[in-house]
Amino acid sequence: MSLKIWLDGQLVDQANAKISVYDHGLLYGDGVFEGIRVYHGKLFEIETHIRRLYDSAKSIRLVIPITPEQMKAAIEQTFRANNFTDCYVRAVVTRGVGDLGINPRNSKSPSVFIIADTIAVYPRAMYEKGMAVITASYIRNHPNAQSPRIKSLNYLNNILAKIEANDAGVPEAVMLNHEGNVAECTADNIFIVRDGKVLTPKVTDGILEGVTRGVIIKLCAKSSIDCVERTLQRHDLYVADEIFVTGTGAEVMPVTKVDGRVIGTGEPGSTTRKLIDLFKQYVRG
Ligand code: PMP
Repeated sequence: MSLKIWLDGQLVDQANAKISVYDHGLLYGDGVFEGIRVYHGKLFEIETHIRRLYDSAKSIRLVIPITPEQMKAAIEQTFRANNFTDCYVRAVVTRGVGDLGINPRNSKSPSVFIIADTIAVYPRAMYEKGMAVITASYIRNHPNAQSPRIKSLNYLNNILAKIEANDAGVPEAVMLNHEGNVAECTADNIFIVRDGKVLTPKVTDGILEGVTRGVIIKLCAKSSIDCVERTLQRHDLYVADEIFVTGTGAEVMPVTKVDGRVIGTGEPGSTTRKLIDLFKQYVRG
């Protein structure tokens, strides 16, 4: 099946959706992106995603050549053109074609492309059993370097942590921050449950402010589950009753082992399961 890709204002066949080798998104990871779910024909939390995309771009001094409204319309157009009602959308903005130097001044026109496709980050059965993770030796970006709050095309740090997970034979790695506190996973935010209370690192602990994370915090508030954003140490992971991770691709995934230590009973806990149910209900609208 050949997908239709939105590329700089036009829908083109996947085979013809090509970016120049001089694009700085490729040469230097100079660009930003979003990953957005479509559930039952409707874009999930679209305003929050669009806002983060334009904030990311602003932070790296990249002017997106279309308005947020046009971006939203282009995203809609892309998944509809491919007849998807449930899918994952990737919206990418690159600095565009430049020369071989890093100076973005020489890239005159940023490129925008949008892909709508299916995604399965983890096998279905893992959502029932939970997954094992490690803490990676690679730390999350220092907030005063390229901020972890920017969803940029520069994922190498996270990829290196993911390779550590691969080497350890587990699907995901927790990254600590520059102070040694818990930040997040390579592409997911992290939550723990302790004595019935849900805890998650603060945005200022060096994380991407996940859209799914925001939904979980909101669902906790609505269901009178105590949820607090606070600094967590690796120790807090080891002694947690429950752990789960959240992301657009992963949705809500229980974690049952960290660095070989069994978390809680070794099975997805009751609060995690409740939040998974609440999330599913929320998604169904
Ligand atoms: N952290 C990182 C580093 C991510 O790349 C992502 C998105 N894949 C997340 C957290 C989760 O964010 P969201 O819920 O907005 O997908």
